[in-house]
Amino acid sequence: MATKKYNSFVSFLLCVVFAVLGFAVGAVGLYVYKTQKEIASIQVYSAGDMSFHFLELGNEYTGDCTYIKANGVDILIDAGSKTSSISTITAYVNQYVTDNKLEYVIVTHAHEDHYAGFATNDGTSSIFDLYEVGTIIDFAQITDGKEEQKMYNNYLREISEAKTRGAKHYSALECVQETNGAKSTYDLGSDMSFTILNQRYYSEVSTTENNHSVCTLFTHGNKNFLFTGDLEKLGEESLASLNDLPHCVLYKAGHHGSKTSSHNVLLEEITPEICCVCCCAGNVEYTQDMDNTFPTQDFIDRISVYTRKVYVTTLGKIIFDEDKQKYVNNGYESMNGNIVVTSTASSTEVNCSNNNTILKDTNWFKNNRTCPSAWA
Ligand SMILES: [Zn+2]
Repeated sequence: MATKKYNSFVSFLLCVVFAVLGFAVGAVGLYVYKTQKEIASIQVYSAGDMSFHFLELGNEYTGDCTYIKANGVDILIDAGSKTSSISTITAYVNQYVTDNKLEYVIVTHAHEDHYAGFATNDGTSSIFDLYEVGTIIDFAQITDGKEEQKMYNNYLREISEAKTRGAKHYSALECVQETNGAKSTYDLGSDMSFTILNQRYYSEVSTTENNHSVCTLFTHGNKNFLFTGDLEKLGEESLASLNDLPHCVLYKAGHHGSKTSSHNVLLEEITPEICCVCCCAGNVEYTQDMDNTFPTQDFIDRISVYTRKVYVTTLGKIIFDEDKQKYVNNGYESMNGNIVVTSTASSTEVNCSNNNTILKDTNWFKNNRTCPSAWA
């Protein structure tokens, strides 16, 4: 009787030990699998996929750079936020570009946080110097006085040098009008393409550079992906009226999640499922009004009606400067980090280099923003 009791106790103990061991092995296995899967899905590109990479820029300043790999074609939209971001951008892009060639470069508008990487001083390598560039598509207009500015003249010089090396160069207006060899739609093969969408500020001069932004719609099968640069309200209204905008799986938040962009006139047409914001969240580069730092409360209230899947590249750190009696920027860290949206034939997934936490679940959001009712 005593032995039997002892035996069943030993059996029970062994069961517990094996159960714990089994759980531990399973947990470690799952962790390894998950980590490898996350790294793999960011590092490895599969032929036939279309992937959109929203890049961190290596500093505390808000800016844009999106790298797109589509059927083996390499595309760059913008290269901000500072000329010093060039090394950060190339280190990332070179993981994917195997032939040192960017088939297409789109420059949305003549603001430093978008075109600094193309507008370096003479003697400093720009993105145009560092890659063989196929076709450059850029803004058709600039604001009055821009032609006097040094960075703009740097840009013109770098464009003209790229052209002497063989790059084709078209404005967004030439694309929508299909003049001088420009096309409105560029076929990328495997049911992928991009189209330069029309908007009034390709032919009219606006008081804000943002409204001159080149707007591009990428298509993969029946899925659409929209990029509007820093286009503001009047530009968005004309974009919505001049184009038959489709439902979009992905929308890159206009103007870094500013209150001046992403209005309902646009959002109700595209009903976005995923929204990526390129900014240093909460930094005080442009304002001391905390509701208006990127991504703004107004933007969040409007986008929340359509999706919870909002991702943000970088988090700015701020401190209160007693001498200046105001908040100042004090460095940065990754929020989601580099955000990669991959469209395959059967799915669209989001993988980020730091974490995949959606905006509403971040500590920054909980401490700095009011949760809209749609996200409650
Ligand atoms: Zn901008």
